[in-house]
Amino acid sequence: MLSERVGKIKPSPTFAMDTKAKAMKAEGIDIVNFGVGEPDFDTPDHIKEAAIKAIRDGFTKYTAVGGIDPLKDAIIEKLKKDNGLDYTREQIIVSCGAKHSLYNIAQACYGPGDEVLIPSPYWVSYPDQVLLNDAVPVFVKTEEKDGFALRPEALEAKITKKTKALILNSPSNPTGGIYDRKTLQAVAEIAVKHNILVVADEIYEKLVYDGHEHVSIGTLGKEIKELSIAVNGFSKSYAMTGWRMGYAAGPKDIVKAMTNIQSQSTASPASMVQKAAIAALTGPQDSVGMMRDEFDRRRKFLVQGLNSIDGISCFTPAGAFYAFPNVSALYGKKAGSRPINNSRDFALYLLEEANIALVHGEVFGDDNYIRISYATSMETIDKAIKRLREAVARLA
Ligand SMILES: *Cc1c(COP(=O)(O)O)cnc(C)c1O
Repeated sequence: MLSERVGKIKPSPTFAMDTKAKAMKAEGIDIVNFGVGEPDFDTPDHIKEAAIKAIRDGFTKYTAVGGIDPLKDAIIEKLKKDNGLDYTREQIIVSCGAKHSLYNIAQACYGPGDEVLIPSPYWVSYPDQVLLNDAVPVFVKTEEKDGFALRPEALEAKITKKTKALILNSPSNPTGGIYDRKTLQAVAEIAVKHNILVVADEIYEKLVYDGHEHVSIGTLGKEIKELSIAVNGFSKSYAMTGWRMGYAAGPKDIVKAMTNIQSQSTASPASMVQKAAIAALTGPQDSVGMMRDEFDRRRKFLVQGLNSIDGISCFTPAGAFYAFPNVSALYGKKAGSRPINNSRDFALYLLEEANIALVHGEVFGDDNYIRISYATSMETIDKAIKRLREAVARLA
C-alpha cells in the first residue's frame, strides 16, 4: 500500500540514535548523551507565561493559516533589526518549526527531476525532504580546511540545467562552520547568474563565536534577495524545540504557495504558541546571550579536550552547538575483536562500551567524522571526555 516515494527515505537518524540512548538510560545505564540537537536550557519564563495567558484568555482557536499579524509584524521587525532584511506580511509564513517551513518550501518549489544542491556535510533532513518531493539531492562536498564552507568553483561545477535550488545552512549543523561575507557574496553571484533559489537555513544565527558575524545572504543585493528565502525558528535561540514554531521570509509567490500547502496540511501553528513566539521576539533577549555565552564556554572546553586525545582531531566550530571531530585516524583499529572501520562502528562502540551517545558522520554525508552536541552541562562534557579518552586508548 505504500507509495514509491516513501521507500526513498529513512527516519531521521539523529532521532534514531537518541531513541537508542534513551532506551539504554531507561534500563538504568549511565549514558552521557551527546546525541541530541537541542538546547538543555529551559524555555525562558516570560515566554511560557505568554502561552499560559493565551490559553487562559481563550486564545485557543484556529488562526490565519500563515500566522497572526502581530507575530508576522514581530518577525518583520526582527528581520529588519537583526538581519537587515526588509519584508512585508505577504512575504512571511509562520509554520510548525523551521523544519516545517523547509518542507513547505520543498513542496512549493521542488518537483520531479529538479536538482537541489546540498553542501555536504549536511543536516539530515535536507536530502530526504528533497526526495519526498521526487526531486534529486546533489551534494557539493565542503572541506574542513575551508571551514566547511562551499568553494564557489565546486558549487558552480555541480550546476546543470536542472538545478533548481541550493540549501545553505550557516552556522551549520553538523560542522559548526559559518559563511563569511566574501564567500556568501560569491555564492550569491553564482545563484543569480544561474537563476537558482537559495534556501538559507539561519536557525543558529544567534550562536556565533570568536567575533564571527552572521550574514543573511538576502542582504547582499536586490537580485539575490528576490532569489532567496530565509528560514528561521525558535527552537535553538529560545530553547523551544517542543513548541514547534518557525518561519520563512521570501518572495511573495513562494510564500503564497507555501501558505496554500500549509492550509491543506497542518493549517496554522498552535495559537498559544504564536503568542509565546511574540513574547520571545519582543521580550527581553538576555537569555539568548546567556545561553550563547554558556555554549561558548563548553565549546572551548570540549574542543580542547577532543584535540588532547590521540587519533582525534577537531576543527574549532565558529557557530551552532556541535563539534565535528575527524576520527578517521582510528579506523582499522580494533577494540578486542571488535573492528572499528567507519563512523558507525565507532559510534556504536562508544555507545555500547563507553556509554557515550553521539551521531556518526556517515548520516551527515562524511564518514570520517562524528558529531558531538555540546548542548549539555560542563560536568557531562568532562565525564564524556574522560570516557572517550579511555575508550580510544583501548583501541589497538
Ligand atoms: C534544529 C534544526 C532545524 C529545525 O528546527 P525546528 O524549528 O525545531 O523545526 C532546522 N535546521 C537545522 C540545521 C537544525 O539543526
